[in-house]
Amino acid sequence: MGEPGKVYLVGAGPGDPDLITVRGAQLCRDCDVLIHDSLVPAELVSSSSAPEKIYVGKTDGGHAMSQEEITALMVGLALRPDGPRSIVRLKGGDPYVFGRGGEEALACREAGIPFEVVPGVTAGVAAPAYAGVPVTHRVTSRGVIFFTGHLAGGNLEHLPWDQLASSGFTLVSYMGVKTAGRITERLLEAGLDPETPAMMVQEGTTPGQRSVTGTLETIARVAEEAQIRPPAVTILGRVVELSARLGAQRPRPLAGRTVVVLKAEESSYDELAPLRRAGARVVEVPIVRCAAGPEHHQGRATVAGLGPDDVVLLRSGAAARFFGQAWLAVNPGPQPRLIAGSRTVAHTLRGFDLQVSFTEERAAGAAKILAAAGVEPGSTIWLPRSRGAGDRTIRVLREGGYHPRPIPLYDTLPVVVPADVQSLLSSGRTDAVLFLSGSCVEAAVAAAPGLATEAGKGITFGAVGPLTAGVAEGLGIHCAVIPERPRVGDLIGSLMAAMGVGDPAPEGMEDDRTDPPPSSG
Ligand code: SAH
Repeated sequence: MGEPGKVYLVGAGPGDPDLITVRGAQLCRDCDVLIHDSLVPAELVSSSSAPEKIYVGKTDGGHAMSQEEITALMVGLALRPDGPRSIVRLKGGDPYVFGRGGEEALACREAGIPFEVVPGVTAGVAAPAYAGVPVTHRVTSRGVIFFTGHLAGGNLEHLPWDQLASSGFTLVSYMGVKTAGRITERLLEAGLDPETPAMMVQEGTTPGQRSVTGTLETIARVAEEAQIRPPAVTILGRVVELSARLGAQRPRPLAGRTVVVLKAEESSYDELAPLRRAGARVVEVPIVRCAAGPEHHQGRATVAGLGPDDVVLLRSGAAARFFGQAWLAVNPGPQPRLIAGSRTVAHTLRGFDLQVSFTEERAAGAAKILAAAGVEPGSTIWLPRSRGAGDRTIRVLREGGYHPRPIPLYDTLPVVVPADVQSLLSSGRTDAVLFLSGSCVEAAVAAAPGLATEAGKGITFGAVGPLTAGVAEGLGIHCAVIPERPRVGDLIGSLMAAMGVGDPAPEGMEDDRTDPPPSSG
């Protein structure tokens, strides 16, 4: 048996996905297995490229897995012969603060499994901070006590109430929403001043952040009236008064908004960054995948027959990739003339040691690209692409006097959509859904038919280009956001403008890819 895998106990931070540490984010992205639970920001999970993601959190009914099962799972994975090398156990906040991370670490130690802990920003500090409360403050609050209001073993009696009440420190309770009434009663009985300022913060640092204030005597009632729900922390102490002067941290313009981006499995888009910076929760969902098989032999045979007199136009990353692969496989000598629809496409082609004779820099229609490249009308234009691609480019090229000849080199296939994403789409709990290709629309409607009916009602749909929007329309989905140039960056700009943030300035080009545009990464 080889060396065991390594377990990383990673703190995910309090809720805002940007509040994870750099080390933690890197491990989440690159690990072999990601084990996560309910208080972990969904974005950290969806953006991880871990081949295996295991949800062990609470379902509505209770624990999906017991602590013992989770520990056994982790240890079992690490000890599996030829198993994963890196296992990230991602836990909300800090892994060692009320998260049973200590037990998981000990279990690893006992099983001889190497582990590393990556601390996180704990909710008991972060939620008050975002609500305008520093947990300690000069003179008035020289310390802070974190305690749990969870009724482990059935009661709260074992907490040292007298000491909590007389400490003079800020008190922060975790897991104490249901027990708020009993906690405050005990503290009153133990002699803590009924007028002690109090606050409860729900879903701190997330778009759903809400807080209520009161006193030790009133806070439980106030929170109940305001329907404060877990996860929430309760803060008791003079520091709560500072919130009146500091104010809650202003949410970013798109805080609270969720944008689902339906894309191809192999792509990632830096262009989504502005949305995230504006505070939106961006869920990237790989919903299609491009694949070549024996059924594309004809396309490859066509590629084998191309020579220096032929002109090949490539406009998507997948097209460039499959063309490059086919070319290397058949390797028939002098290459045809290659025209790249974007810099990314050119870059991909060069990765196959191919010469690119022209690269479109500004994004234009197919006929315009050819004209700019100096290709005479009347020429035959070879178009490597997906089997199911639409005929818009063909039409545009014919109108421009060219003779387009498609080369089907791959298929765009749907990917199985994880249950959590399916429910996100079917429930309408998202503000915007962006389709990066017609095949993405088809796959999405297949996975969540409700998108075209009930669930889709409150959603703003966006399409990368008119053809994609046309596919959506055909399936009963109206795309309100379509950028003038079919570029992901422009789509994001248009969406942000539609949401009242930012302002893009695009220009025209047709769009008929079935596979999404080239990724930036
Ligand atoms: N390890 C976590 C705490 C796990 S216990 C940490 O360090 O933060 C879970 C409790 O944490 C919840 O019941 C709630 O009291 C608190 N909590 C977690 N996320 C929170 C948030 N975003 N806002 C307020 N409280 C939160």
